[in-house]
Amino acid sequence: MANQPIFILPEGTERYSKRDALRMNITAAKVLAGIVRTTLGPKGMDKMLVNSLGDVTVTNDGATIMSEMDIAQPAARMLVETAKKQEEIVGDGTTSVVVIAGELLSKAEELLDDGIATSVVVKGFRNATEKAVELLQGIAIDADDKETLKKVAVTAMSGKGSDYAKEHLADLVVEAALRIEEDGKSDIENINIQRVSGDSVEDSFLAEGIVIDKAPLSKAMPKDIKNAKIAIMKYPIELKDINTDAKIDITSPDQFEMFLKNEEQMIRDLVDKVVDSGANVLFCQKGIDDMAEHYLKKAGIMTFKRVKKSDMERIAKATGAKLVTDIEDLSEDKLGSAGHVYLDKLFDHELTFIEECENPKASSIVLRGSTRYVTEQISRAIDDALGVVAATIEEGKVLIGGGACEIDLVKQLRDYGETVNGREQLAILKYAEALEVIPRTLVENAGLDTINLIADLKAAHEESNLIGINVFTGEVVDMKEAGVIEPLRVKIQALQSAGAASEMILRIDDMIAARNALN
Ligand code: ADP
Repeated sequence: MANQPIFILPEGTERYSKRDALRMNITAAKVLAGIVRTTLGPKGMDKMLVNSLGDVTVTNDGATIMSEMDIAQPAARMLVETAKKQEEIVGDGTTSVVVIAGELLSKAEELLDDGIATSVVVKGFRNATEKAVELLQGIAIDADDKETLKKVAVTAMSGKGSDYAKEHLADLVVEAALRIEEDGKSDIENINIQRVSGDSVEDSFLAEGIVIDKAPLSKAMPKDIKNAKIAIMKYPIELKDINTDAKIDITSPDQFEMFLKNEEQMIRDLVDKVVDSGANVLFCQKGIDDMAEHYLKKAGIMTFKRVKKSDMERIAKATGAKLVTDIEDLSEDKLGSAGHVYLDKLFDHELTFIEECENPKASSIVLRGSTRYVTEQISRAIDDALGVVAATIEEGKVLIGGGACEIDLVKQLRDYGETVNGREQLAILKYAEALEVIPRTLVENAGLDTINLIADLKAAHEESNLIGINVFTGEVVDMKEAGVIEPLRVKIQALQSAGAASEMILRIDDMIAARNALN
């Protein structure tokens, strides 16, 4: 009885403790960083991702790659979450976060091999992250003029499939962001990107107001309405929804005719409610049946059915229309207004433009491209660019990219590390070394000579902290002049997120996983 084993975990549970757990997690994080690092920078390569349904995505956007990959290892999944958070908070820098976190963990492993305790490594890294943030704030440049915003947008879009048209796209992004700016903030949720394949990226343009990817229900409905009174409704104008579960006994042809007439009257009553409200444009999130379509057409109401929820929200915000969930509530005071609503055809694609909206803080980028893959890829690049432009408008502080600010940090953090006593110093120095991974990867991805270029870069930094790598020519140049500029917030967030993720992974010394969870 005394030797009876006691099971506190279900049979089949896998358990890795201490070093095994840590090694396993560090390796997984390094593998993930290894996968995404080849996409970093303007010379980064793309990944082709195919999901279980066979849908293909071609991208080098870190966040997209990681969200499309089916990652099982829990520590790697934590890194994926970190990248997603980075995307959510600042809209760019997702690859950098994972690459930095992977390198930090790699350096942590070296420290652990040298017998440094995990707690010392964690403390040193945390100290170094705080110092790095302070140093970045110190070297940031104040700028939020239009020219800087354009450079920030171009830098964010570099290498993301849009290079040949990036100047034009950057103009659109900056115009769109400035148009909706209010009190020093640019809420990019107000900008919608409408993708239209079948033309060249250079033909992309900025539309004032909202653009939706839909045509009115019928060709006989109005296609162009001035002084639009807009109703938005989440209520179907269909018979099947009126007569749910109704059971009718019909015993004669007269009765049947009556029944049809009644049904017709019900639909007419519903359409009359729309007409009585004074609306001449109706966006309905639900269905509209043929009979209703007929009466709406007769009433001259430009009608759209099954409009996406996100479009409904945008229309509401831009035109001041209030969403009606019961048609009985539809009245004049629920209507929004726009100076001009019209249908237009781009290539063979029909789009509806809602312009001169009540709220002028709405704009849309109509993104053109030869194929769906092109527009999807460029749409992600524009998303990143909008994020960084908004961050720069808000904060007004930028850093010099192309490895310049990282090399400066490496140097200054080393100097700082020398002033810290004890073993923590070793962790700070390793942290500094880890940040070299950004310029090194930019150089590697461009197929350039890493050792020589990094040495040149460090030497040049004795003279100026603006020097970085021109990955196209393989020279070290003034990156401020080259226009490679990034918002301070993206870099700070990347360091903080990478630091927090590596700390979280380093603190795990026991992994208990349900049967088959790790396979
Ligand atoms: P992330 O998802 O981390 O933003 P990117 O693939 O966008 O990754 O690469 C960003 C890195 O590329 C930054 O370090 C930035 O400074 C650098 N970069 C961007 N444009 C250039 C350029 N023209 N020359 C050199 N480096 C550049």
